[in-house]
Amino acid sequence: MTIWNPWHGCHKISPGCANCYVYRRDESIGKDASVVTKTGDYELPLKKNRHKEYKLTSDEGTVYTCMTSDFFLEDADEWRKGCWDIIRFRQDLSFHIITKRIDRFEKCIPYDWEEGWDNVTISSTCENQDRTDYRLPILMNLPIKHKQVICEPILGEINMEKYLASGQIEHVTCGGESGPNARRCDFRWIQEIRRECIRCEIPFTFKQTGSVFQKDGKIYHIERKDQIFQAQKSGYSYMPGMNTAASITYRLPDREELFDRLSRSSFRSHFHLSDKEIDIIKQKGIDIIRSHAKVFVEKRLSAENPDNDGKQTPMKGHPVFIAQHAVACCCRSCLEKWHHIPAGKTLTAEEQSYIVDIIMDWIYKEYGRE
Ligand code: SF4
Ligand SMILES: [Zn+2]
Repeated sequence: MTIWNPWHGCHKISPGCANCYVYRRDESIGKDASVVTKTGDYELPLKKNRHKEYKLTSDEGTVYTCMTSDFFLEDADEWRKGCWDIIRFRQDLSFHIITKRIDRFEKCIPYDWEEGWDNVTISSTCENQDRTDYRLPILMNLPIKHKQVICEPILGEINMEKYLASGQIEHVTCGGESGPNARRCDFRWIQEIRRECIRCEIPFTFKQTGSVFQKDGKIYHIERKDQIFQAQKSGYSYMPGMNTAASITYRLPDREELFDRLSRSSFRSHFHLSDKEIDIIKQKGIDIIRSHAKVFVEKRLSAENPDNDGKQTPMKGHPVFIAQHAVACCCRSCLEKWHHIPAGKTLTAEEQSYIVDIIMDWIYKEYGRE
């Protein structure tokens, strides 16, 4: 990856800007980041070395463009045209532009943009639900060949599945905030977006934990040097078809503690076997019911991204279905939330038999109540 900063300086327009690193870095050297200036690198992609070869080559990967400003800033309206000329000229390079000003995009594109250019990726930053619901509908309607979403610094729970389901977003990246005044990043926010990406089969990157990271209700203060490493180590990034979550380490819950938690959920504890389902158990016998549970778990839950995930378990018709809802083994989201079994990976034989055991435990309890 390379960076091309044609201009420098920016104006804060969004909650995500509060601790902007451009401001922080400039302040530390006594500079005012709100003054926007063209840089000496304005023509960087055209520059050549003494062998008359381009300094920037595609071997070095994507050219991240305008990382100390915003490409669509008003102050740069005069200068942008020259950049588009360069981007058009260097078709061999891929340019990635990350913006909080997607609402200015249409005013800022070149005359020959048409359906978008192959070598340009535009990422819209979405730090909270409000900015997501403002920016993503705009992004959805723009002619752009490569669209991505970046939730960094993520500042709250975000639901973006309806936008992801449109099939237009190629990648989602999430991360917490760094720096001395960093705001908290709750791991549950990361997990939620990840689950949505898995359901829509969109690659997802958990880039960094940020400085103040909350997991299982506990707050961790994480040093700058460890923030990216910790996120990578968690195995929480997702690539469709790669079973990437296989590297996530976790512990299955203790049986007693699990049933205690379930009993405190009014939704989970309201499930009970009806007379009809009790009859099915009586007719078939408990061993057959267990074999059905095995088949349901294997067929409906164990794939990396099961069909109809979230809706694959009916609410009636078989005692195992009822049990699955009662013990939160109904879909991959519930398995992740309640049992820590990560979504986005194929279930191992061990995980499958754990699930069958929990289901059967509940059925025994219900049946015994007869
Ligand atoms: S848009 Fe980006 S560069 Fe500009 S102030 Fe906000 S965070 Fe900083
Ligand atoms: Zn569920």
